[in-house]
Amino acid sequence: MSEPIIRVEGLRKSFGPREVLRGIDLEVARGEVVVLIGPSGCGKSTLLRCLNYLEVPTQGRVWLRGELLGRQEKDGRLVARPEAEVDLQRTRVGMVFQRFNLFPHMTALGNVIEAPMRVKGMPRARAEALGLRLLERVELLDRKDEYPVRLSGGQQQRVAIARAMAMEPEVMLFDEATSALDPELADEVLQVMQGLAQEGMTMLVVTHEMGFAREVAHRIIVLEEGRILEQGPPSVVFTQPSQPRTREFLRKVL
Ligand code: ADP
Ligand code: MG
Repeated sequence: MSEPIIRVEGLRKSFGPREVLRGIDLEVARGEVVVLIGPSGCGKSTLLRCLNYLEVPTQGRVWLRGELLGRQEKDGRLVARPEAEVDLQRTRVGMVFQRFNLFPHMTALGNVIEAPMRVKGMPRARAEALGLRLLERVELLDRKDEYPVRLSGGQQQRVAIARAMAMEPEVMLFDEATSALDPELADEVLQVMQGLAQEGMTMLVVTHEMGFAREVAHRIIVLEEGRILEQGPPSVVFTQPSQPRTREFLRKVL
């Protein structure tokens, strides 16, 4: 196997006395689609947030294609990376959240081109060409000049996906990107996500959409209380889970 895009080793995260992630080991291959499921509060969001250093792990390491995230080795010791380098690493990991967090004072196109221009220093003309291509891909070219308030929730999430893709990330994280949407609007977002998966994007997806998980995921990971309870292809995890507690959880959500 070629080098994993993401490698996680012994990841632990505590908030005060509460240990939320209790030793996660994980490798994600290029082009792999991993769906994370598990009860509310089991640490799914925290795990995703550790993968782009929005949360700093309490213990353990995360590598992006072999490069240690957030820290570096110096004289045989691990020290914090300069913040500018961490920011650069973050741009390699795109993220879409449950709540639409578009910039309200920018048009759809403005939202998409902001980071490439500001963070990567891309000239406006090039950023706009890229932005238009991405808006076309999420089928919103005709809404490019609209402000977020004039877009439906589903359209806003599709702009959010285009905006994340504009940084040409190596991996995309989705944290319940459709949970706040009506089913119809959720579907149009799920279709865009499925399209990305088919184009070979590496994706880690937290979702309650079991249809999507079954159809699109290569691997399901079941988290429970900050540990991986079980993992495998959807055909196995959904129909013959090895853990009774997986069965219990699935009974509630399927
Ligand atoms: P999930 O996404 O699986 O529902 P989370 O990762 O959001 O779970 O949260 C796991 C646990 O960590 C929860 O008990 C939550 O209250 C706690 N938690 C998450 N973020 C913080 C934080 N910034 N400070 C304190 N506790 C947090
Ligand atoms: Mg969550």
